[in-house]
Amino acid sequence: MAGQALIFSAPSGSGKTTIVKYLLENNPDLGFSISASTRDRRGRTEVDGKDYHFLTPEEFKEKIDANEFIEWEEVYAGNFYGTLKSEIERIWAEGKNVIFDVDVKGGINLKKYFGEKALSVFVKVPSIEILAQRLNSRGTETEESLSRRLFKAKFEMSFQDKFDVVLLNEDLSKSVAEAQRLYDGFKVIL
Ligand code: 5GP
Repeated sequence: MAGQALIFSAPSGSGKTTIVKYLLENNPDLGFSISASTRDRRGRTEVDGKDYHFLTPEEFKEKIDANEFIEWEEVYAGNFYGTLKSEIERIWAEGKNVIFDVDVKGGINLKKYFGEKALSVFVKVPSIEILAQRLNSRGTETEESLSRRLFKAKFEMSFQDKFDVVLLNEDLSKSVAEAQRLYDGFKVIL
């Protein structure tokens, strides 16, 4: 059974993961595409097979060679992330729509792949300064990874018009309501 796809992309720290989690909690007809990643697991908060399929670089490469990804990328130097075809098959077989939390390039590629079956949403922060504050307060970044993420974020901001919708995330409670509205509208359109 083929369902629909909801793609959320943004520079990291924009709040897209929080929005995606809210939609998952409130919409039983959505299933999360668990990406593969070679980055280290954030020990206290992340679960292998739930947040990501954490792979070694060798395992990741084997899956590239076996053509198991719809898209994959070296999102940060040495850290590979990718969307597995098997995830979409699993979620659609459950009769659900698939929801993605991917970076900006991945979102553009997924939209190309799914076409009209997908709604792609760019989550935008009001400014780079606010993004820096949010990443800092999350406490997951070193000084180096923070500056890498900010550098990439500035570049990613320039791709927002490649998405179906831009969602400005100033106030999280408003943003989740808007995301829900977008999903409800998208479901009835197709
Ligand atoms: P994080 O390390 O913060 O979990 O993720 C870093 C970035 O990689 C985030 O923007 C996240 O959305 C993105 N990402 C996660 N999974 C995938 C994927 O399968 N493909 C792509 N292109 N990006 C991904």
